[in-house]
Amino acid sequence: MADKKIDFSSLKSKGFLPQRQENMFSMRLKVVSGNLDAEKLRAIADAAEKYGSGYVHITSRQQIEVPFVKLEDAEAAISELEKLGISGGAAGKRVRAVVACQGDRVCRHGLVDCQELARIIDEKYFGEAVPKKLKIAVTGCPSACVRPQDNDFGIMGTVRPQILEENCVGCKLCEKACKMGAIKVLENKAWIDTEKCILCGACIAACRKDALRAEKTGCTIFVGGRAGRQPRQGIKLLGLADKEQLFSILEKTFEYYRRESLDGERLGDLIDRLGIEKYLDTVGCVPHTGD
Ligand code: SF4
Ligand code: SF4
Ligand code: SF4
Repeated sequence: MADKKIDFSSLKSKGFLPQRQENMFSMRLKVVSGNLDAEKLRAIADAAEKYGSGYVHITSRQQIEVPFVKLEDAEAAISELEKLGISGGAAGKRVRAVVACQGDRVCRHGLVDCQELARIIDEKYFGEAVPKKLKIAVTGCPSACVRPQDNDFGIMGTVRPQILEENCVGCKLCEKACKMGAIKVLENKAWIDTEKCILCGACIAACRKDALRAEKTGCTIFVGGRAGRQPRQGIKLLGLADKEQLFSILEKTFEYYRRESLDGERLGDLIDRLGIEKYLDTVGCVPHTGD
């Protein structure tokens, strides 16, 4: 059988996933935070015509796959792309490419620079061997377009609004903008119900009188989430972590996962097995309460 001679594990580590068709592989290419420049897109299109079937597949995690690459062409296909700075995507027991939305560089609702956060995380952790797989997502605001709650480590931009009462004229624009019913105008002054507020900042954007400002901008962190056969919602940690806290928690989470996990165990299962208290103690964090 020809299959017995194929080193599937080595191919997978380079991003080649065996197809149901014999001798065919889907070449997964790494895309960080969903952005690719035009030159790289053209090179990938050329590779799809030369080595694949003339099309690409965009995965649910913002990666590009070129299906129908023959085994004998695999090495040449990826080498050509690597020369242009395009590398194979991670598969198997590795840290996957970071998924991110456009954040505050493009989106009107963005509160943090998702692209920059994703770039830093990617440089530090992409492709690292882990007990199972580890997925990270960065989303720019509580609309959560890239679903950070479904990732092993999810990051979501947040902002805490502050009312400057002396500027408030009671116009209710903030009340209309808030989809959570968290801000009300009472006796001609805005008032925020912190139990209902999800830190989205829509009220700040709506106010024309400088009566609302960002008191603090940061990130809500989710850990231990996953999609798939046994979906699990990530546990919400700090509501407004600054960059230093964020990267400290991320690094400690990696250390904890590498040190404590059984082979083949996802981060969420590890947290369940050893208890959330142990995890929180390790990363020096308390569960999310208000913000
Ligand atoms: S999560 Fe927020 S910032 Fe990101 S794309 Fe969605 S609405 Fe825009
Ligand atoms: S939009 Fe601004 S000025 Fe108008 S009620 Fe809200 S806080 Fe006050
Ligand atoms: S930050 Fe968002 S949820 Fe909170 S009061 Fe403003 S609009 Fe409402």
